[in-house]
Amino acid sequence: MYDIQKYFSAHSIAEALDLLREYPGAIIVAGGTDIMVHLRQRKLRDAVLIGIREIPELNGIHLHEDRSIVIGAVTCFDTIYQDTLINRYIPILAEAANQVGSSQIRHVATIGGNLCNGAVSADSAPSLLAMDVKLEFRSKESTRILPISEFYIGPGKTALQSDHELLTAIIIPQENYENWNGCYLKFGQRNAMEISTLGCAAAVKLEKDKTHLAALNLAFGVAAAKPVRCPRLESSVVGMAADDMLWQKIHTEVLSELNPRDSWRASRELREQLIRTLSVRAVKKAIERAGGKNNGL
Ligand SMILES: Cc1cc2nc3c(=O)[nH]c(=O)nc-3n(C[C@H](O)[C@H](O)[C@H](O)COP(=O)(O)OP(=O)(O)OC[C@H]3O[C@@H](n4cnc5c(N)ncnc54)[C@H](O)[C@@H]3O)c2cc1C
Repeated sequence: MYDIQKYFSAHSIAEALDLLREYPGAIIVAGGTDIMVHLRQRKLRDAVLIGIREIPELNGIHLHEDRSIVIGAVTCFDTIYQDTLINRYIPILAEAANQVGSSQIRHVATIGGNLCNGAVSADSAPSLLAMDVKLEFRSKESTRILPISEFYIGPGKTALQSDHELLTAIIIPQENYENWNGCYLKFGQRNAMEISTLGCAAAVKLEKDKTHLAALNLAFGVAAAKPVRCPRLESSVVGMAADDMLWQKIHTEVLSELNPRDSWRASRELREQLIRTLSVRAVKKAIERAGGKNNGL
């Protein structure tokens, strides 16, 4: 049933990178929840698999000396959902983690696999885009850090150089979470075990008066060919009061930077309606969580 030629379980980043070089075309496996489906569907033949799940450096969530939060690439969604640091400082990510698949899936599916498969529906992508995180990649020659805004380069395509590179960590600098509040909303055809029909994450920063927006980051999954932000709308709402004019502006303008498509899950028209509705709801909720004071909530 599974056409696997070889399976290696690497115990260090160096070992995994050596194996990638030794076996051209080899495939990295973290939780395997995507790869195993591909193997079962026989989309992968004669596969050489390199497991990275047992690499301690890639697992876990840490607060660094510079107060950036670093999430190892093979950290599974259940760990992220339960983690004290994430719940305290980046609850928008805990909210997304808890909406991936089922409990069984969340215990094995990793945040790195969710990003590296390049899926437009990846539940972690909108929250990570809204937090403007950085991604760390290691190859035998170098370590490179890429803003997540440069990671998704097209439908199903990412900037990962999968022939010689690993995604090793997701880095959230202090300035990207301190004084920010957020909300992730997912729409699916049912509540459990459902790939996103639309995902929307809003992260906001309020002025000291708690009534005006100092910043908004608004990100979507399945609203375009790849997970995206809405930079024009984001900059045009800075300084606005959190009231009906803001909700109306988001509702009217949010689609201008997006390009949802028809699929068997939903029509373009339904997705457009979801984008308008969920973006206003997510921004309202994020403002409420930030302690926003206004009449419109
Ligand atoms: C029943 C079911 C329900 C699901 N529901 C959801 C859902 O609700 N939301 C959602 O977003 N997804 C869902 N998924 C998809 C999947 O579980 C996630 O995308 C998951 O996060 C993938 O992680 P993984 O560790 O299992 O990836 P794997 O299958 O191990 O790998 C996925 C891809 O990423 C590459 N890769 C993995 N880690 C690295 C790394 N560190 N460096 C370089 N390349 C790497 C692999 O080579 C492969 O191409 C579901 C899947 C199933 C089977």
